Amino acid sequence: MLERLEYEVAVVGGGPGGMTAACSAVQSTSSVVLLESALWLGGQVWSGGDGPHADRTAKKWFKRIQQSDVEVMTQSTVIGIHDRILQVDTPEGLVEIAFSRLILATGAREIFIPFPGWTLPHVFGVGALHNLAKQGWPMRGKRVVVAGSGPLLIAVAAHLRQLGATVVLVAEQTGLSKMVQFAAQLPLNAPSKLMQGAAFGARLAGVPIRTHCWPVKASGTEKLERVRMTNGSSEWDIPCDYLACAFGLTANLELPYLLSCRIEEERVSTDSSMLTSIPKVYCVGEPTGIGGVDSALTEGTIAGFSAVGQTREANRMRSKKRRMDRFGEILRKSYEPRAELRTLAQPDTILCRCEDVSVGQARNDAGWREAKFYRHVGMGACQGRTCGSAARFLFGWEQPSVRPPLFPVELKKLATYTAPPN
Ligand SMILES: Cc1cc2nc3c(=O)[nH]c(=O)nc-3n(C[C@H](O)[C@H](O)[C@H](O)COP(=O)(O)OP(=O)(O)OC[C@H]3O[C@@H](n4cnc5c(N)ncnc54)[C@H](O)[C@@H]3O)c2cc1C
Repeated sequence: MLERLEYEVAVVGGGPGGMTAACSAVQSTSSVVLLESALWLGGQVWSGGDGPHADRTAKKWFKRIQQSDVEVMTQSTVIGIHDRILQVDTPEGLVEIAFSRLILATGAREIFIPFPGWTLPHVFGVGALHNLAKQGWPMRGKRVVVAGSGPLLIAVAAHLRQLGATVVLVAEQTGLSKMVQFAAQLPLNAPSKLMQGAAFGARLAGVPIRTHCWPVKASGTEKLERVRMTNGSSEWDIPCDYLACAFGLTANLELPYLLSCRIEEERVSTDSSMLTSIPKVYCVGEPTGIGGVDSALTEGTIAGFSAVGQTREANRMRSKKRRMDRFGEILRKSYEPRAELRTLAQPDTILCRCEDVSVGQARNDAGWREAKFYRHVGMGACQGRTCGSAARFLFGWEQPSVRPPLFPVELKKLATYTAPPN
């Protein structure tokens, strides 16, 4: 028999969206639990916790959580859900958490588009290298190429430089005209982002920043030694120690899929109170549309208040939410990956790194199901979280099906669990 805990509000995901949702809900009920799989709260953007790199906003929310009655459970991963009961993997074993209302704030992960050498040691995701650096990975004197797509490139490059790295190039795949259009919309929809962008730009003075530029090959004997870049017409090599490369973000939608929430164009549909198509289940942050930290904070506040019936408080955030939605839409259109990126992978380029399946092997499969059945694509430790978005971009394959457990669990823990009857 598993331990079962009961809460009025359960929040899954301890990033900015989940933290604000929990802080808002707890103002009306003391029965709020915040579940986070990582060692500490903060999600992706505040992943260093309340440490030296935390900004003012992060410090404010960490303090609020500490001073609140929110029950925080870190190292606690939701692996399934059945009948308003979450199955949670904790260091002590599996635990069940019963809830009346649920807020999903599961965030996003990076999109990797395969190119020759993308699995070489010292090729990282942009956010991944940033997270490592924030946690003390030595960057001083290291030559770094930051490439891919999205505003994260500039933010991360600026911070890596501050930590002592030599940023040799920032390469954005989108074209200059799209970036100019993006910047032109900011004063109206996200003025603080414009200031932020200018500050990052100043910190990158002297660093080459190229638009319409992307990597075609990473090479080296045992680890990365150089990256071949292109602007579509010519190619050149850049010697470097690290390549930080990702082509935007894709939302973590496994739990919303498992709950059968309505999802359109990779976004969970919600009403203005962040309620999904499933009664008493709310969703905030990146799963409702990639919009960044400010959007997650706004939506988290709305959902937290709405879940406990504080509609007046929630309504106060509505105009900000509309602005954030417009920002998210502009972001999406401005940084869409270009079609040329589909031609980078060669037949022997790895698609599924867990199961060692190449693009050439998978290319002729009819879809995700067939590739999974015959070649175990997406059946390794990441369960398709990396190759799923690559296969969608390269071959147009549908989202892999979702089944519990959502993350690998130790067998001895699973053995204690008796599945509920269907
Ligand atoms: C690798 C990476 C680095 C990033 N770095 C930056 C940055 O430096 N600056 C910036 O402005 N933006 C960054 N972003 C963008 C970032 O997603 C948003 O700005 C912001 O963090 C969104 O907040 P959120 O609460 O929606 O999601 P997140 O911050 O992603 O938080 C979601 C949390 O949910 C947890 N979670 C997910 N599933 C489960 C589960 N089943 N059980 C328990 N917990 C779960 C995750 O561990 C995570 O902590 C980064 C994104 C990624 C993917």
